Amino acid sequence: MGVMDDYIQISGLHKTFRTRNGPLQVLKGVNLTVRKGEIFGIIGFSGAGKSTLARCINRLETPDSGSIKVGGVEILSLSKKQLLQERKKIGMIFQTFNLFEAKTVYHNISYPLEISKIPKAEIRRRVFETAELVGLSDKLNAYPGGLSGGQKQRVGIARALVNRPNLLLSDEATSALDPQTTLQILDLLKEINRATGITILMITHELDAIRYTCDRMAVLEDGKIIEVGSVREIFNNPLSRTGALFTKVF
Ligand code: ADP
Ligand code: MG
Repeated sequence: MGVMDDYIQISGLHKTFRTRNGPLQVLKGVNLTVRKGEIFGIIGFSGAGKSTLARCINRLETPDSGSIKVGGVEILSLSKKQLLQERKKIGMIFQTFNLFEAKTVYHNISYPLEISKIPKAEIRRRVFETAELVGLSDKLNAYPGGLSGGQKQRVGIARALVNRPNLLLSDEATSALDPQTTLQILDLLKEINRATGITILMITHELDAIRYTCDRMAVLEDGKIIEVGSVREIFNNPLSRTGALFTKVF
């Protein structure tokens, strides 16, 4: 695999939060490469820094130092205007769905396009197309309050995909769902990856979700990547530290 096949390249990433109790170093030199078109899993304890890492990738957080290249573009040296452009190429989904409760499914999905000043007919076309992809065509006039958890996450996924991004960041997207609904959402993510070639970074504390879905994975512990490899390799033969992590928590 050459550099051309890499979609995310992170090196030497550090992030410290200022807290009332003083500085809290959360990312301590993260190095990570995610290949174009793969589903890559990151697993770790609660508090390991997974969400902070995801938020640094679309620069919802500004790291102290390091480099984050997404599609060859250095995310940390962009102007505000360039950043808005690059963010359109990155979709994100969350454990809590983060939907607009007062908007219909249609308008939840169309929101990222409406703030981009795209013509109404084009918006309509893309919302319909994306709703079809996630299986929500018959729910466009519903409100989030009337949907199941799985349907809400489908809205979240559609909203994340409506700009046709190259990368989907999934931060604990199935952690609020029951096991059967989790499987349906993981199947949907696999299907979207297969159909569109989108690169997916799946962050979770759920080992089974990674085993079911991902090609390769990394283990994040206390702000550092302690292991990277194919899912099969790591499950068959984890480093002793990772093995301990698996039995302790998951
Ligand atoms: P994870 O997603 O792996 O559970 P997080 O990235 O959410 O971990 O958090 C890592 C650590 O950083 C935690 O100790 C958390 O309390 C702290 N943290 C996260 N965001 C902030 C913030 N905005 N300000 C201060 N501390 C934060
Ligand atoms: Mg988190």
